[in-house]
Amino acid sequence: MLYNVDENEEKNNEEFNNFERAYSRKINVKKIIVFISSALICLFILVGSFLLTYKGMNKDSSAKTEMPKETTEQVAKETQQIQQEAEKQTTVQDKNVQEQSSTEQNMESNTIESALPAKNEDKKAEKYEGNHMQIPIHSFENIQKGFVPGENPNAQEEIKQIYYSNEKQIYLTFDDGPSKEITPQILDILKQENVPATFFVLGSRVELNPSIVQREFEEGHFIANHGYSHKYSQIYASVESVYEEYSKCQQAVQNALNNSNYFTRLFRFPGGSSGGPYNDLKSKAKADLISKGIATTNWNALTGDAEGIKDKQALIDKMISSIGKNQSIVLLMHDAGDKSYTVEALPDIIKYFKDRGYTFKNFYEIFN
Ligand SMILES: [Zn+2]
Repeated sequence: MLYNVDENEEKNNEEFNNFERAYSRKINVKKIIVFISSALICLFILVGSFLLTYKGMNKDSSAKTEMPKETTEQVAKETQQIQQEAEKQTTVQDKNVQEQSSTEQNMESNTIESALPAKNEDKKAEKYEGNHMQIPIHSFENIQKGFVPGENPNAQEEIKQIYYSNEKQIYLTFDDGPSKEITPQILDILKQENVPATFFVLGSRVELNPSIVQREFEEGHFIANHGYSHKYSQIYASVESVYEEYSKCQQAVQNALNNSNYFTRLFRFPGGSSGGPYNDLKSKAKADLISKGIATTNWNALTGDAEGIKDKQALIDKMISSIGKNQSIVLLMHDAGDKSYTVEALPDIIKYFKDRGYTFKNFYEIFN
């Protein structure tokens, strides 16, 4: 029995031990499973958070590098504008430096005025859709003696419209006069052809030839202002000196016409209103003049008669190439003392525009 008990006990012990070993193995397996699961969960969490962080970083960096579409377009637009402006300045500067040095050496024969296409003055103006037909038409045939330019607060804007108009119109303009020899011949041709013009006179020349200014006025041409001295260093010394030049020319015209009611109202900057070494001053002076009710204009075509061209046909060819695709033309010419080729070319120039159905105008269109 004892044996049996012992045997049983032994057996029980053995079973117990077996059970314990088995139980112990089971626990170990469970531990391993728990450990592996935990490790896997941790790994999963780690990988997950890494991916999230990485994605977040990417989003941040892309937010920094990619600008909103509008901003990108704006920057591209501004860059383009700056490039265009720089190109324009470079071209204009070259021509104006040449112009300045030569002009100051000899004003009469070397007033080289490069074409500063007014359409480049303000790119936005290309989109202008104002109705230029609203500008009252001044009939050249009906000009009364003593007709003086009237006030027009919208003059600058209306002048800008001339350059962007699709109307076939031609403004013949002559700078740097009056001169004893050339201006009367030009007036004779204009009379014969029955077309109006605009004379941007120099105050110093007006004082020398007042009777010629009187004739320009009586024959219905517009007398505009080109300053007094045509010496760049003097004119562009300051914003005030530009206005002084305007005022001195204005006074000279009033004296010549013996008419204190004649206000020129329109100024053309010697050398053009932009570019060259005085570019910044010119833009300030332009704003100053406009604030005083004085309009300014450049030109969008020229014969090159101040660039040493000494041939009638070459002047006409130069004019045609400078016109390009423009419909509405402000043509720069000169009536200084040495411009005999301008006199020679003028009848053909007028014929060119008449043959193509252009309307001849002067700035009484704006100041009436
Ligand atoms: Zn000039």
